[in-house]
Amino acid sequence: MTPSASHFSPSDEDVFAGPQALRRAPKTHFPAHAQPPREVYQLIHDELLLDGVARMNLATFCTTWVEPEVQQLMVESLDKNIVDKDEYPQTAELEARCVRMFADLLHAPDPKTTLGTSTTGSSEAAMLGGLAAKWRWRAKRQAAGLDTTRPNLVCGPVQVCWEKFCRYFDVEIREVPMGPGHIMTPEDAIAACDENTIVVVATMGQTFTGKYEDVEAISAALDAFQEKTGLDIPLHVDAASGGFVAPFCAPELDWDFRLPRVKSINASGHKTGLAPLGSGWAIWREASDLPDELIFNVNYLGGHMPTFNLNFSRPGGQVVASYYNFLRLGREGYTAVQSATYTVAAYLAEHLGKTGEFDILFDGDPHLGIPAVTWKLKNDDGPYTVFDLAEELRGRGWLVPAYTLPPTQDAVAVQRIIVRHGLSLDMADLLLADFRRAIEALKNGPRGRRLEAGDAPSFSHDATPALAVVAP
Ligand SMILES: *Cc1c(COP(=O)(O)O)cnc(C)c1O
Repeated sequence: MTPSASHFSPSDEDVFAGPQALRRAPKTHFPAHAQPPREVYQLIHDELLLDGVARMNLATFCTTWVEPEVQQLMVESLDKNIVDKDEYPQTAELEARCVRMFADLLHAPDPKTTLGTSTTGSSEAAMLGGLAAKWRWRAKRQAAGLDTTRPNLVCGPVQVCWEKFCRYFDVEIREVPMGPGHIMTPEDAIAACDENTIVVVATMGQTFTGKYEDVEAISAALDAFQEKTGLDIPLHVDAASGGFVAPFCAPELDWDFRLPRVKSINASGHKTGLAPLGSGWAIWREASDLPDELIFNVNYLGGHMPTFNLNFSRPGGQVVASYYNFLRLGREGYTAVQSATYTVAAYLAEHLGKTGEFDILFDGDPHLGIPAVTWKLKNDDGPYTVFDLAEELRGRGWLVPAYTLPPTQDAVAVQRIIVRHGLSLDMADLLLADFRRAIEALKNGPRGRRLEAGDAPSFSHDATPALAVVAP
């Protein structure tokens, strides 16, 4: 052995002593040369440090913690394309089992024969639910020789996916303004309905406050409307976030297929379903509620394969992970997990209330909504806004979004926390301590917008929102 000048050999070099550490990442041109995997990994890994910590993102509804077994199944499923049902029949079988199990959870009359599909999320599932409603409405109108050119959809303050559905698929959206409880009231919904209404969309876990709309009351109002007018308008329930909590923590609420008027439901597997990102479900009450024309049968992957998704190729791991969750947790486990999130939400609501600074608009009551807390400032003319507070908390790594509610008479600026699987009471305590610190700093410190004598009290909440995020 000859002594070498350096202990480093090119293959085991410290990545920060190698050339990569002194090179910048390509940003616009397609790289000409290949590079060692370890160095590229380190470079990208380090850039992503700027993303912050997902679990401290209290804006998102989506899964940010999974068990190691889920990670393992995701890695093992990396090469499974869910659309290749002939190549990967067992992944397809797990999807079919999940559809039946979820349909059972949602009280479908016959879960064994109903139709449903996994999707990339609730947005795709909502598109499919909306399309089925449009097709059913059109077929009925055509059969009666009636005009089919002006379909509309009635909903409350909805997530953007319904606005997308209406614009992409040429349906007039009739978005009912927020009622007194920040949700759509049955009366307002009915007032917007007519013979061209393809469906009323009710939301279980409304985006802006986390509250449930009263699906049972909306359904009853539509029954009365039918008696009066003869118009039979179906309901679709957007249970993106409520779909995997209400069945466990508010089982007495009638919002699902127990109501005959509910023809389809969407839910995000990657929200309260606890699956990794990229998982949604669309379920129809009965097979006949999903028009045949929307189902394509293709045979170019071998075998006979029905498909009614917007995407073709999709990863199979999310379905595999969902099946894992269903088996691993069952009703018992989901109830335990979701009850824990409600406990933390109630704790946060109580202690945020105790600061004396906020009016709590929703405190995470399991019978009224998802595990979330929404509040506004008590003092609209105080030294800081919820946007300032959001910015201050961001300095400690917490993302607690501030935004304005959809237009009513007065644009109310609110702040919201979604409590997810993985937010423990201990973390909640850390968060509350940071809230107190932030409030203190804003009220007294140099960062607060304290009004000095002579300052015009002119700042308004919508003047320069430091942060306006409505998470998916
Ligand atoms: C999140 C959400 C959606 C969109 O779901 P994705 O899974 O993000 O596509 C739709 N509706 C509601 C009520 C939501 O909360």
